[in-house]
Amino acid sequence: MARLPLVAGNWKMNLNHLEAIALTQKIAFSLPEKYFAKVEVAVLPPFISLRSVQTLVDGDKLLLKYGAQDLSPHDSGAYTGDVSGAQLAKLGCTYVVVGHSERREYHHEDDELVNRKVKAALKHGLTPILCVGERLEVREVNGHLEHCNTQLIAGLKGLKAEQAAKVVIAYEPVWAIGTGKVATPSDAQEVCASIRSTLADKYGQEVADVVRVLYGGSVKSGSIADLIKQPDIDGGLVGGASLDGDEFAKLCALAA
Ligand code: PEP
Repeated sequence: MARLPLVAGNWKMNLNHLEAIALTQKIAFSLPEKYFAKVEVAVLPPFISLRSVQTLVDGDKLLLKYGAQDLSPHDSGAYTGDVSGAQLAKLGCTYVVVGHSERREYHHEDDELVNRKVKAALKHGLTPILCVGERLEVREVNGHLEHCNTQLIAGLKGLKAEQAAKVVIAYEPVWAIGTGKVATPSDAQEVCASIRSTLADKYGQEVADVVRVLYGGSVKSGSIADLIKQPDIDGGLVGGASLDGDEFAKLCALAA
């Protein structure tokens, strides 16, 4: 089953809105148009830059997609500092990251909240990129498959098969994020295959066949080609390397 690869650049809390415009332009114009038929490319800037990116993408008819790094589980109301799925949808976002390990760690987001955010994203027509991944101590005792599948099942709890089919899963081992230690292609494949098999058990093979499973954790242009060759890895969620326009465009081209 052919799945269109997806490479999404998670800019985290980097760049002001002017720098975001410059980087978006750099990526869009460094990647020849023919690649966009073979790989979906998305940028995930901080909330403050989404409006600028939207204006640029719409104005220049760029083939890039964009999205946010988080959303509120609520639709609207007295939730100071939060941003809703409805607001992101109105800004033309396609994607929203949910359950990134940095939010789980620094904002104490648990599986129950992550699940509510997945549902909020789907409710507003956004595609959640649900992140799962183990810490080093879990991998050291060989608990990584169980850990990732537990997070997966909890994050998708209560979804119908047709909703689960719309979600993107990102396997992001915590020990690989921002550390320069990329998982080996076979280690990443092991977990991504296990995620797909869990999806098949819960929602049927048809759903498992269409869901894109990404790998994230210190991916660079030098590592993407071997990762994307793996049968169950459909692209990358890229942090640090997505802040360099040339490097990110090269990485996206290699994923096509
Ligand atoms: C991430 O934050 O999702 C990520 C994968 O970061 P990095 O590529 O920098 O490891």
